[in-house]
Amino acid sequence: MPSPTLNWGLIGASDIAKTRMIPAIRSQPDSGITAVLSSSAERGKQYADENKIPKAYHDLDAFLRDPGIDVVYISTTNELHASQAIAAAKAGKHILSDKPLALNLTDAQAMVSAANDKGVVFGTNHHLRNAVTHRTMRQLIKDGAIGKPLAARVFHAVYLPPRLQGWRLNRPEAGGGVILDITVHDADTLHFLLDDDVQDVIARSAQQGLGQGGLEDAVMGVMYFRNGTMAMFHDAFTIKHAQTGVEVHGTEGSLIAKNVMTQDPVGEVYLTKNGATSEVSLGPREDLYVHIIRHFNNAVIGKSQPFVSGQDGIRSLAVGLAVLESTKTAQRVPVRYS
Ligand code: NDP
Repeated sequence: MPSPTLNWGLIGASDIAKTRMIPAIRSQPDSGITAVLSSSAERGKQYADENKIPKAYHDLDAFLRDPGIDVVYISTTNELHASQAIAAAKAGKHILSDKPLALNLTDAQAMVSAANDKGVVFGTNHHLRNAVTHRTMRQLIKDGAIGKPLAARVFHAVYLPPRLQGWRLNRPEAGGGVILDITVHDADTLHFLLDDDVQDVIARSAQQGLGQGGLEDAVMGVMYFRNGTMAMFHDAFTIKHAQTGVEVHGTEGSLIAKNVMTQDPVGEVYLTKNGATSEVSLGPREDLYVHIIRHFNNAVIGKSQPFVSGQDGIRSLAVGLAVLESTKTAQRVPVRYS
């Protein structure tokens, strides 16, 4: 086996890296993992051992000085992404950052600008648009299969797995809460499906048993798009028995996708028009995170672009921040993208 040509370093000894990203990076013949950075030397060492990662660091500067790291994947808690990404860009590393990019727009823009200034690749880890279900729906909508989209509905209310019931529920300063966790994914998915930007939002949140310290664990609302499409969304950490889904209803037909707001390459898409419903045939069901890494690796070697750009991450954060503001003011809030 030839040795990997792209060496990834993990910033954050996280669950998502362990469960999804490490396997995805290793699935590619041109990439491997050199090191992990944790704020705790002990946890970093244990994580490295468990995941067969050669080196563990607990100092960001030392980690970024490692010439054996070409690309960093950032999956720390949300308040840390911005400073870590900016430091990584200054060190000349390519960056795949998890979402939300930051806790405010200024920081998110600074992350992307820092990468642009150094000429390194920057991507955002929104997984859903990588799914063949969503990619197929976008193409059908572009091809006019449902006419002009008038309305969308996103069902993304899930039960937060007990192993993840930590900072998302009790650390506002770390960017906890369902809006920055899940609503930003809805925004990215809808931006992608509709090829349009959200103009304004109105939303209501709640605490339904898991969120603490004022952090919402459920939200419902409406996103109004520039071309007039209205999208309703329901995101939650508290719903145990529902299926996820997304629907787009147009002047000529409807697309109904079931079980698609998920991390696995599953779900079905149905097209209803002219009084008949048929299941849409889909291409290969590539793992969503493998799709992200494959595109990112190709971007680093100049063959393509990240499938989700830094700008896309700024756009989804802008919508998430507007939704948060609306839940606090009970007002309709325009989305400020810059
Ligand atoms: P985790 O809670 O698993 O990890 C976040 C941080 O918490 C780690 O960086 C680690 O700090 C610290 N930590 C982890 N385990 C422990 C422990 N046992 N004791 C003390 N501290 C611990 O978070 P997630 O993996 O769920 O999320 C990380 C990021 O990824 C978030 O930004 C989230 O929004 C995003 N995410 C994205 C998903 C996607 O599909 N795009 C899905 C899930 C999450 P340290 O590194 O210092 O050791």
